[in-house]
Amino acid sequence: MVKDEENIMVILSSPSGVGKTTLTKKIQQKYQSFKISVSHTTRSPRSNEVDGVDYNFVSKKKFIQLANEGKFYEYAKIFENYYGTLKENVDKTIKKNDILFDIDWQGTKQLSKFKNLNLVKIYLITDKKELKNRLIKRNQNTSNEIEKRFSSYDSDIKHWSDYDFIIINKNLETCFKQIENIILSRKKNLSSIFKDFS
Ligand code: 5GP
Repeated sequence: MVKDEENIMVILSSPSGVGKTTLTKKIQQKYQSFKISVSHTTRSPRSNEVDGVDYNFVSKKKFIQLANEGKFYEYAKIFENYYGTLKENVDKTIKKNDILFDIDWQGTKQLSKFKNLNLVKIYLITDKKELKNRLIKRNQNTSNEIEKRFSSYDSDIKHWSDYDFIIINKNLETCFKQIENIILSRKKNLSSIFKDFS
């Protein structure tokens, strides 16, 4: 049986539009041990999003209530909406699985304070010109939202130094391989530590 202590929590952060949602889904498809953390958000669902799968979509009132009750490991206000990671979901999942978080730098800072978590923090960046093309191409935001997301790039990347690894996403496959190597090497290290001590 996989030991609880051997399970890891991988955070993928990036400026909006760099491709982390695609990458997290790709990791989960290849590695069954990984579950994606489903955040709570006050943002409205996009046409392709499913409640309980992509996010738990909640009202602002409900979100604030959960925050006041201390139910989140972390939460942040991003582009006028709230996003947060429920403690209960993480604590239950980590007993049997590795977890992937698609969260921003504010959430990463808050999660880092919990020293008992086996965190691997990865920051993805891409060329600024490339980013604008992606935001337009994915067709999920209004032009006003695209502008807001694009202009947050500079302030967002200032937080790269809070992460363990920085990866440039020029090519999705190469980027995926790099993330895979990081994950596999961390899992291997942990399993050899626990073997030595068991
Ligand atoms: P989107 O609206 O494009 O789905 O997400 C906007 C940003 O919110 C992304 O950078 C994403 O990583 C971040 N995000 C999603 N869920 C959470 C969360 O639970 N906590 C934090 N801090 N950020 C989140």
